[in-house]
Amino acid sequence: IEFVQVLRMDGSKDIDRKPEVTESEKKKMNIEETKKSLPVYPFRDDLIAAIREHQVLIIEGETGSGKTTQIPQYLYEAGFTKDGKKIGCTQPRRVAAMSVSARVAEEMGVKLGNEVGYSIRFEDCTSERTVLKYMTDGTLHREFLSEPDLGSYSVMIIDEAHERTLHTDILFGLVKDIARFRSDLKLLISSATLDAEKFSEFFDDAPIFRIPGRRYPVDIYYTKAPEADYIDACVVSILQIHATQPLGDILVFLTGQEEIETCHEILQDRVKRLGSKLRELIILPIYANLPSDMQAKIFDPTPPNARKVVLATNIAETSLTIDNIIYVIDPGFAKQNNFNSRTGMETLMVVPISKASANQRAGRAGRVAPGKCFRLYTAWAYKHELEDNTVPEIQRINLGNAVLMLKALGINDLLHFDFLDPPPHETLVLALEQLYALGALNHHGELTKMGRRMAEFPVDPMMAKMLLASEKYKCSEEIVTIAAMLSVNSAVFYRPKDKIIHADTARKNFNHIHGDHLSLLQVYNQWCESDYSTQWCYENFIQYRSMKRARDVREQLVNLMQRVEIDMVSGVTESINIRKAVTAGYFYHIAKLSKGGNYKTVKHNQTVMIHPNSALFEELPRWVLYHELVFTTREFMRQVIEIESKWLLEVAPHYYKPKELEDSTNKKMPKTVGRAGPSDAH
Ligand code: ADP
Ligand code: MG
Repeated sequence: IEFVQVLRMDGSKDIDRKPEVTESEKKKMNIEETKKSLPVYPFRDDLIAAIREHQVLIIEGETGSGKTTQIPQYLYEAGFTKDGKKIGCTQPRRVAAMSVSARVAEEMGVKLGNEVGYSIRFEDCTSERTVLKYMTDGTLHREFLSEPDLGSYSVMIIDEAHERTLHTDILFGLVKDIARFRSDLKLLISSATLDAEKFSEFFDDAPIFRIPGRRYPVDIYYTKAPEADYIDACVVSILQIHATQPLGDILVFLTGQEEIETCHEILQDRVKRLGSKLRELIILPIYANLPSDMQAKIFDPTPPNARKVVLATNIAETSLTIDNIIYVIDPGFAKQNNFNSRTGMETLMVVPISKASANQRAGRAGRVAPGKCFRLYTAWAYKHELEDNTVPEIQRINLGNAVLMLKALGINDLLHFDFLDPPPHETLVLALEQLYALGALNHHGELTKMGRRMAEFPVDPMMAKMLLASEKYKCSEEIVTIAAMLSVNSAVFYRPKDKIIHADTARKNFNHIHGDHLSLLQVYNQWCESDYSTQWCYENFIQYRSMKRARDVREQLVNLMQRVEIDMVSGVTESINIRKAVTAGYFYHIAKLSKGGNYKTVKHNQTVMIHPNSALFEELPRWVLYHELVFTTREFMRQVIEIESKWLLEVAPHYYKPKELEDSTNKKMPKTVGRAGPSDAH
């Protein structure tokens, strides 16, 4: 690939730039020395003093300066947990919460889960002894339900505030409110970039504490022409760097697990073919679903004379800092959830990143020495095609979940909630309508008994409704399994490149005639019958780790079902009841067969297709329900079951009118002949 260098990102600020720490020096450093080498260290005392003086403090500092790992420890050492209260620190990403807490436990010489712990959805690794608690922002949001004043915390750190996830944005409003009547609670808002002023303003002009960064210049290169296949371009660029550039590790930004696996395989293959002509290249993936022992590997120091290449999702943009990265490869994309309030459809899609993101990514190359960033797009595209900033999640995703949580917290007037940036009015209204249709709100917009029970589950409202509906349809065992499997779904089936045919055949064996939810149920049940065997997974091309996780999730869901007093029952032999229960939750996600094997969504007439991996890909039933939409080349429905349109009137009578559910074939028939009835449909 031909790159052109266009600009140099200067080492910003340049305050006390220290000499580079070499690889071998680094290894000699013990934990204490490493801690002292971080940019935040010289500011320890000033920072503690500022926190003592002010109730709310905004902290701004370059990524990797030690905010997340060090500040909670400083607070602990300064006695902020003496009164038996905890220090909490939120992270937008699961992986970050796990990995950072593991690091801090190591630094403090304690076992993870004791003094230092983490809590993420479906996984609580804390104990009575925990005083430093890392958690996802979603988990803290949930904690408000059981502890509305955050009474067990002395300090709450809303970290990575610049990421502006939906939960973080809502937390801003919640913690600001709490700080007013809990004068003993310290609130820290920590952020990597230039939003500090905005945060300060929101928190009644709270002071900003800036940690000067150390940053070396990064040379930016762009491709001369656009790259058609960016995975391939990544592989070529990695090898180009490896063959021509001095030692130093490479960080590559990809959009998700699948892409990372593909890139990994191709790269491994090419390296193998090159044989011993090149130095050793250590390839390490990092993404949310990667088991934690594998995640930890990215932090292992690179052996001398070898080069490490980390294939990462956005996680490595600001949440995690991998030391010694000198080269960054940035294809310019990220996976994003987008909600269209006009059609009410939420789609997971790969989108171009913003300029702010691109610059964050480039900055990762300049932490320990001058670095290089290779952008796999043209300078023109950067200038003209990328937005300046990423739109905050609250302005682009479905708010059903957030609104349900706020209602459960007793916050009724959402239009006047203290938002840093308010969500679009129509998205808010749509969320209210959706919750009303699900039976979570009454027509005054107040939480119903059903809504209260739904809020107990840390899942989106549609899934919560499905779980609750299983009571009526006497299939709670099955539905809980389906919910657990859906929550790990994309990682259930294993499909290695060299055994695709075997893998696909194995997968087809699980196909259920009525669709994918039921296939997933069969996978889980057969695995149970095999006594949770690894061997069974191996033989059937099923990912053992995902199954184990599904089992954990399932266990927690069963506990929650008991909490809302639903008996665990099973025994339905026909799948109708199970499919009805699913429909009771997901009646928004219905599509009807139209011409050419395409489907149209019922309410908005959008064209969608069944995903080729689906058991129903060749069946093309008239009415289907989908779990989610993904956009690749087209809008695909992933996880699909066949339903009957009349069930919709049964489960969502106030949402569907009989007229909408007539079959199109009937409509086309001349009135005099047409006898509207299901028998005509065939
Ligand atoms: P910030 O929050 O300011 O971005 P961090 O506290 O995350 O900075 O990072 C400080 C240092 O800790 C970095 O050098 C980073 O590489 C290191 N670090 C963080 N997590 C781990 C881990 N799990 N293992 C080893 N080092 C880690
Ligand atoms: Mg951090």
